[in-house]
Amino acid sequence: MTKDRIEMKRRDFLLGSAAGVVTAASAVSQAGCSKPFVPEEPHRYIDPAACIGCGDCVSLCPMGAIHLVEETSSIDPDECAECGVCSRSRICPADAIHPGKLAWPRTIREAFSNPLVVHEATGVRGRGSEGIKTNDVTDRYPRGSLGVFIELGRPALGTRFVDVERVVKKFTAHGHTLVSDNPVAGLINDPARGTLMPEVLKEKAISVLVEFILPESAVSALHTLLDELAAEVETVFSVGIALRAEPDGASRIEDLFGGEVFRLPNGKVNLGLAQDIAAKGA
Ligand code: SF4
Ligand code: SF4
Repeated sequence: MTKDRIEMKRRDFLLGSAAGVVTAASAVSQAGCSKPFVPEEPHRYIDPAACIGCGDCVSLCPMGAIHLVEETSSIDPDECAECGVCSRSRICPADAIHPGKLAWPRTIREAFSNPLVVHEATGVRGRGSEGIKTNDVTDRYPRGSLGVFIELGRPALGTRFVDVERVVKKFTAHGHTLVSDNPVAGLINDPARGTLMPEVLKEKAISVLVEFILPESAVSALHTLLDELAAEVETVFSVGIALRAEPDGASRIEDLFGGEVFRLPNGKVNLGLAQDIAAKGA
């Protein structure tokens, strides 16, 4: 009996066009599925001998890196950001998804995309966004300065580090250096030019956040710089600005950026509990 070719990608799954395929694949029995030796891969991988082709992992991958072809799923290592969602979710009924044995420079995919992994450079988990959330108690960006965050990439699209380098080089060329405790700082090989280690440029993460501190007087230069970046960067990016609130609680964001900012009714609160701001008398 010839077997119909079964192929499903995340997009197909989300659109529902592969529903029949999922049902057919789920019916494949796990019985008798012995698990032969599979050599350790240098990236996350699916053991083809263990996979029963249920397709459950396909829709879960935020990067669309898992494809189901002829009743067996596999991970595209170039698109996989090593976020670990497919493993952490324990979605696989056959225990067929394996973390592999990651080595430098692939390890940076995991460091930037898996929130449970600690950055060796900073000793913290995550992308280094705490500064923007706790500024009113840490005074990281004192009055008269702007905390500027460029967030590159999003789930499904991601970002290569060549785009991260474009951002760091652009700010460096305008005289603004990356803050030293940002996770990207450990990847810079030439601080004067803002270039990253060449071996990391093709690596991919779901998103990367880079952070600079500019004087308030640089608002107009920031506009120019962002316009230039929009023409050069090959993924999506968003820009966040952190400012200290005024003593009466007001924000100067609209004074500085006019109608270009918009407000979201966002109620997120981080309890930094006044670390050393009182000591500074700020
Ligand atoms: S580690 Fe993340 S990106 Fe890679 S296959 Fe699993 S879910 Fe997809
Ligand atoms: S890897 Fe696991 S979850 Fe994914 S299709 Fe195979 S059996 Fe199903």
